[in-house]
Amino acid sequence: MALDPPTMLALSVALAAAAALYLAIEWCSIRENSLLFWSAGFATISVGSTLALLRMGGFLLIGIWFANGLLVIAHWLFLMGVARFTQTRLSPAWYLVFIAWLTLLLLPGAPWWSKVMFMANSLLVAVLTLRASWLLAPHGKSLSVGAVQLRFVLLAHGLFYLIKGLTAVVPGTLIDLAALQGEIIQISLVEGTIAIMLIALSMTGTERHRREARIARLAARDPLTALYNRRALEVRAPNLFKDVSSARPGALLLIDIDNFKGVNDLHGHLAGDRLLISLSEMIRAQLPEGALAARLGGDEFIILLSNTSHERAVALGSALREQFQTTAAHTFATPEAVSLSIGATLFDQPPASLAALIEQGDAALYASKRGGRNNIRLVDRTLSGTPPQHAG
Ligand code: GH3
Ligand code: MG
Repeated sequence: MALDPPTMLALSVALAAAAALYLAIEWCSIRENSLLFWSAGFATISVGSTLALLRMGGFLLIGIWFANGLLVIAHWLFLMGVARFTQTRLSPAWYLVFIAWLTLLLLPGAPWWSKVMFMANSLLVAVLTLRASWLLAPHGKSLSVGAVQLRFVLLAHGLFYLIKGLTAVVPGTLIDLAALQGEIIQISLVEGTIAIMLIALSMTGTERHRREARIARLAARDPLTALYNRRALEVRAPNLFKDVSSARPGALLLIDIDNFKGVNDLHGHLAGDRLLISLSEMIRAQLPEGALAARLGGDEFIILLSNTSHERAVALGSALREQFQTTAAHTFATPEAVSLSIGATLFDQPPASLAALIEQGDAALYASKRGGRNNIRLVDRTLSGTPPQHAG
């Protein structure tokens, strides 16, 4: 099959239509509006490439000016989609692109008409595409693999159009838009079909990666407090355990609110929720670097410390206990004091599992509850360990 311009245009029509459909279907499941803009962009390319075929029949206004204008609009839609994706507000000056294109209608039918049209089209597409690529630059944030891919595909496409536009000023370059003749036009038609595929695939990848990252983030967090949940802690704990040694002991603090039911019963479930959120904020604020915190469920929280000591673990637990007791007493009046009981364990050998460690913490927590609540019980399981300590 000869890759003559009409064949390449027909191929572009089919590929762009497929991309538009694919992105629209993606939108149906993901509902991200950037996908709609990108889908509309490819639909516009499909229509533009169909109309471009009309120039062979002598319909120059529709076949060249209008069809190439649709190509500019398609890239404008791509830019709008990227702006949505990156949540960037674009300057209204980008609408001037349309005015620039309309002014080309005023061009007289001079011999260089084809070149000016070609150059204006290429440079407008280049500016729109390079701007979209720039919006996807990290700007201090980390980007998903999909977004990085889209950024570089758009960069390559934009640079191609920039170079393409500049070739028009090279003396002797043959550019005949009416007959689709000239080497650069042929190359551009091939680049067009490749770009459609790469851009469409990167666009779907971009949204998919972001959605997957969002789902993974949600699955790792407790919805009320946004602390890690038990599953997420189980995934992260081994990394902390592997650094544990006698020179760098680790500690687990198991925290349970005392008489929490009283808050729910007297002040309502929402008040209870607010107190759980307050405690999670205190934990987050006091958490040393490299430590992990999670809500195990109900009114039970857990802190895993690395490179700590008996004194530092007790100090952290006591600080939390005191801060929480003051806050709870000021916020909710209850017959029995709402405070914290903490069971802690200090270890200098990586534990068999997180579950085994929690069991040890549970035993200490139980002792703390039995000892009258509102205290911390630490069991030192290091070789140089001191006997269990009680800090009221
Ligand atoms: P203790 O001093 O022995 O710890 O008793 P407690 O009253 O604190 O009750 P316990 O720890 O045995 O049970 C925790 C209660 O927390 C049970 C449940 O009603 C309540 N609870 C569990 N999850 C939530 C939640 O998401 N929001 C609210 N408001 N309450 C919860
Ligand atoms: Mg409790």
